[in-house]
Amino acid sequence: GVAVHLQDLTRTYGATRALDGLDLSIEPGELVALLGPSGCGKTTALRILAGLDVATSGQVLVGGRDLTRVPANKRDMGMVFQAYSLFPHLTVADNVAFGLRLRRTSTSARRARALEMLELVGLGQHASRYAAELSGGQQQRVALARALAIEPSVLLLDEPLSALDAKVRVQLRDEIRRIQLEVGTTTLFVTHDQEEALAVADRVGVMNAGRLEQIAPPVDLYERP
Ligand code: ADP
Ligand code: ADP
Repeated sequence: GVAVHLQDLTRTYGATRALDGLDLSIEPGELVALLGPSGCGKTTALRILAGLDVATSGQVLVGGRDLTRVPANKRDMGMVFQAYSLFPHLTVADNVAFGLRLRRTSTSARRARALEMLELVGLGQHASRYAAELSGGQQQRVALARALAIEPSVLLLDEPLSALDAKVRVQLRDEIRRIQLEVGTTTLFVTHDQEEALAVADRVGVMNAGRLEQIAPPVDLYERP
């Protein structure tokens, strides 16, 4: 079975064709990195999968369900963006629990789930600190914990490491991979950084001008028959 299928997606903004017939399938539990230069349509693809943008044509299938016209809040996606997405004046635990507030869970169950997720990302001991007190890398771990807390059908990572310095970027990249393998969440990771894509992904999809040029495991990517 296929977990995610983006089918012949186009998206135009006036005269700009952000997506021009994008086809992409992701297997259950797989981490696919979408790689490509700025402006090639990576973020547009991710936003359409998230329900934050609407395709001009084409379909979005998740777990065999057609979500093309399903709004973002009914889609069950976990998202991590570039940076600054936490509430700085909430504690780390409250930030993680925030995503669970609309679900039918008790305060204590939300709290327990938040702590479990913070242990997973190695921040259990920081649960009671304010988000603003953490480093950029730690804040991104919290954002990851928050995204995973809802047990998303798909985890969407949009340049989650771009705002971090080089050393932290490599550490967190490896950490994201470890956690993703442990949890087994189907993941789409958008990046313009080739080394990063090759290091984290089961398969790397190379985008150009709104479509997928090739998609392959990192070891096969630059070998042409
Ligand atoms: P990437 O994520 O690969 O940098 P994007 O998906 O952000 O690319 O953008 C693809 C193209 O669509 C770019 O030319 C961008 O300027 C354009 N674009 C994206 N969003 C909008 C928008 N809301 N309005 C107009 N143009 C947009
Ligand atoms: P990224 O660089 O991560 O792809 P951008 O900074 O390009 O993201 O886009 C951030 C937001 O601005 C998105 O909502 C995108 O749709 C919008 N956007 C991008 N390009 C344009 C554009 N040319 N005109 C209007 N909105 C845009």
